[in-house]
Amino acid sequence: MFTEQDLRELLDFKTEHPVLSVYLNTDPSQGSADAYKPRLRSMLKDVGLKNDVQKVEQYINFKFDWSGRGVAMFSCAEEDFFRVFSIAVPIRDRIRISERPHVKPLADLLDFYGGYGVALVDKINARLLYFHLGEILVEEELSGESVRRTKSGGGSQSLGRRGGAAGQTNYTEEVAERNIKDAADFAARFFSENNIRRVLIGGTEENVNVFRSHLPKAWQSLVVGTFPINKNASQAEIKDRALEVGHEAERLKQTKLVQMIVTSEAKGQAGVINLEDTLNAVHDGRVQILVFREGYRAPGYRCKGCGYLTTEKLTACPFCENKFENIPDAVELAVHRVMRDGGEVEVLRDVEVQKDFDQVGALLRY
Ligand SMILES: [Zn+2]
Repeated sequence: MFTEQDLRELLDFKTEHPVLSVYLNTDPSQGSADAYKPRLRSMLKDVGLKNDVQKVEQYINFKFDWSGRGVAMFSCAEEDFFRVFSIAVPIRDRIRISERPHVKPLADLLDFYGGYGVALVDKINARLLYFHLGEILVEEELSGESVRRTKSGGGSQSLGRRGGAAGQTNYTEEVAERNIKDAADFAARFFSENNIRRVLIGGTEENVNVFRSHLPKAWQSLVVGTFPINKNASQAEIKDRALEVGHEAERLKQTKLVQMIVTSEAKGQAGVINLEDTLNAVHDGRVQILVFREGYRAPGYRCKGCGYLTTEKLTACPFCENKFENIPDAVELAVHRVMRDGGEVEVLRDVEVQKDFDQVGALLRY
């Protein structure tokens, strides 16, 4: 399980020594431990950091339980730093040696699979689920008052029942409305307790709409999709449906975001659409949302004094006059800094973008 807090710890980890970051795909549907172990060994064979390699191999050989579909490991033996995260969604094999944990793939996973809250609602009950990086972490249920009035059960008189032939129907509707309102209050608490970043609602269109209207505005704005589903659906089914709807919503949101960045840039406002301008904005702490295509890497230079990143070979830093060093991936460092500063990172997957937008850009704070 990988949480925002873990990410924070990785982002804050500072050292003078190299850090070995290893991402290993361990998808049981694609192979077994017997196949993955030698692959890891061959990935590590040219890594010079003996103690770190040993830690990683020991972990995989003796401690790893092979649950999940991937594992991310970060080792800095010199600092006695070793972190492992089992991951329930597919990842690609990768190895990096750098002066800090390589977090870019995790940023991608958090963006794509992180912080889902799902509410399944009908006229009486609600089921709430929180899933994150492919795992269902919490499920809670709420049962309301039955909407069918029995002979003995008069229900509350405070409902303002109307008389006449319509009384029964009105009463039923009022109870249903109150149940759904209670469910919405309950859901709002559930969502904030679990740091939900996107909300999906399952149920009939009518119930979904009533539920949505009772959610506090802040949560309404995080609703990314709704879908019909049987309230007794299995957790796996709910997760699959929610991810499907969620990913489609994510794709649309990203398309709009890129359009907005391109338009802003054209108007000379708060948008940048190339690497150099993006790195400058990162340096100024102006990036609100960093956007780049999945897998995009770009070498660059970093000032040894102030950390200024650039793709241009300069003799001295324009900010502090220090010298530059080569870095293999300026995007990784940009991700690092934006996340550390509390900005967002959007990784574009399967998004058709305008021709003006190449690989990377950003929406700026000002
Ligand atoms: Zn500098």
